[in-house]
Amino acid sequence: MTRDWSRRRFLAAAAITPFAASCTSEIRAYDFEWLAFATTIRATLYCEQAKLARAVFIALKQDFANINKAWYAWGDGELAKVNRSLFQTGESEVSRPLANVLVTARRLADRSSRHFSAALGPVIKLWQFDRFDINEPPVAPPGASELKNALTIANGEFQVSVPPTGKATITAPRGAMIDIGGIAKGAALKVGIETLQHFGIEGAIIDAGGDVATLAGDHPQDYRVGILSPRGRGVDEAVRILPGEHIMTSGDYARYWTLDGKRYQHIINPATGWPATGAMSATVIDKDPLLADATATALIVGGTQNFSTLCDAMQVQAARLVDNNGIVSMTSSFRSRLDT
Ligand code: AMP
Ligand code: MG
Repeated sequence: MTRDWSRRRFLAAAAITPFAASCTSEIRAYDFEWLAFATTIRATLYCEQAKLARAVFIALKQDFANINKAWYAWGDGELAKVNRSLFQTGESEVSRPLANVLVTARRLADRSSRHFSAALGPVIKLWQFDRFDINEPPVAPPGASELKNALTIANGEFQVSVPPTGKATITAPRGAMIDIGGIAKGAALKVGIETLQHFGIEGAIIDAGGDVATLAGDHPQDYRVGILSPRGRGVDEAVRILPGEHIMTSGDYARYWTLDGKRYQHIINPATGWPATGAMSATVIDKDPLLADATATALIVGGTQNFSTLCDAMQVQAARLVDNNGIVSMTSSFRSRLDT
């Protein structure tokens, strides 16, 4: 029998330690690391054969590469083409996989009272967060009238129609641009987990730059995940998550401009069109990775004031928020998972 549970691995974005394993067969852990979504992906797959682990790794890598291209708003994949069509005509055909993510994004936007919105493309573009290279900050925030126009289009949201047969379609105000950045990692991790299930992997943990998904396989195990400090002081806190649970973190530190000493971050407040100032970091644990991802983004917008209301509205149990002074709020469900 091979066991290697005692290894302690600290990942760039999250510290993960497999523990409490009880193993009845020749299951081993196979580690893989590659680049996708502009971050390092680290996956540990639990199965009996190295050959199977390798095949699954290749499939997973391909999934993420496809999604990276197809669901990125600003490149040349499917969503970018949908955006070009929406911009000109206010409508477009959409493939079913993307349409399903858009339907979920739309539903979660409503649930969040639009603290989360995937329709913010025109505003995000004005703040230049559509740029891949963020080394050269814009010289000034966008002007009030152009921001107002962009916000009016974004507030028009979008509608997706997915008929039982035939083509799915999206309609939106002309000039609309969809950006699913706030839910894309969760959606990609869901696809990744489905691939692992398809191959019959027994257990797995995938860390996509601090957004972590696990597989509810036959292999009994839970995981220890570290939450990074929003101001670069290593790991703030560690929690235990069960197989089949996922943990998503949003932060004002992930992408931001500094103009005249002030931080303008990539998460936009849909009510004002300005970068959110509600909190530095938000983490959500849930069995639905899209829900966890969208809620973490929404909580950054809502801040401490709206923390409980938003958790209830989004229907998440386990959430944690670090406000702008470093004060931490958390739900009792999140607290019960702290690994002290
Ligand atoms: P996350 O890291 O999951 O919080 O996603 C942040 C990304 O979501 C940003 O880089 C934008 O692409 C997009 N975004 C910005 N503001 C919002 C918002 N209020 N709701 C949904 N997505 C947003
Ligand atoms: Mg998110």
